[in-house]
Amino acid sequence: MVLKKPLFFLLHLLAARQIADQSAPEWDYRDTNRWIADYPTCGGAQQSPINLDHYNSVGSLKPALKFRNYAQPLAGRLTLVNNGHTADIMLPETIRGPRPTITGGLLNGIYEAQSVHFHWGSPGGGRGSEHTVNGYRYDVEVHIVHKNMIYGNVQEAMQRPDGLAVLAIMINIADFPQSFYPGLNRVFNTLPRVRAAETNATINSQLSLNHFLGDVDTRNFFAYRGSLTTPPCSEAVTWHVFPRPLLVSRDLVIIHPHNHICILFIFDADCKLLRAPTEKRRVSME
Ligand SMILES: [Zn+2]
Repeated sequence: MVLKKPLFFLLHLLAARQIADQSAPEWDYRDTNRWIADYPTCGGAQQSPINLDHYNSVGSLKPALKFRNYAQPLAGRLTLVNNGHTADIMLPETIRGPRPTITGGLLNGIYEAQSVHFHWGSPGGGRGSEHTVNGYRYDVEVHIVHKNMIYGNVQEAMQRPDGLAVLAIMINIADFPQSFYPGLNRVFNTLPRVRAAETNATINSQLSLNHFLGDVDTRNFFAYRGSLTTPPCSEAVTWHVFPRPLLVSRDLVIIHPHNHICILFIFDADCKLLRAPTEKRRVSME
């Protein structure tokens, strides 16, 4: 694994409780070089995140992504959890019963939504997305984590190369955004209530997964096979990354939760190393 500065904040693909192996070594962002020692897969050849480059990408006619039950309200109120690494939302079923699912793109099979979490910039330290596009880094990256339905649970899916699918939605801060995303706003406004690790807060609104997608252009994506971005770095993730960002108000992200969440979760400005690809990856672009 090649690690480069500068660094940015926060990643983590799955809530700590999903990785619930009590014997697993502790990890944090202060010394990511230790990750390989404790988790050898973190030095693998298919590690994420990467820079997505139009020049090095292979244009291909993949099927469009299809979303089911993304517009259905999720059952009950969502709980935002500070799990010590990120702000994570475990997703319930929808009020109709089934979970939201995705198919198409680079996926074979049906993947059902499990959780949502965020990657932010650090105060004074820079932007926070994990993936970059043509070397450009966005302010925030939202991950919606899905599990292949043929596997019983996330733990099992993490052991399989086709186990997980993650959608990455980019957000940039704007002074005068043209759109308003009420669902994201409610999530952001809840962040200050989970400043301490192992705390949680209820989001006082009924949300659907479409609230997290906003009006992102889901026809335009990069897709590639990669990994969890934090230990155990399992190479089990099919990524679909939407390069056109949502624009949100500067007040909402910077003044309010942005500073809090980085201070809280990471303790200093240097939060996360971008992991460079070890080789030129063939990435398909729809
Ligand atoms: Zn993530």
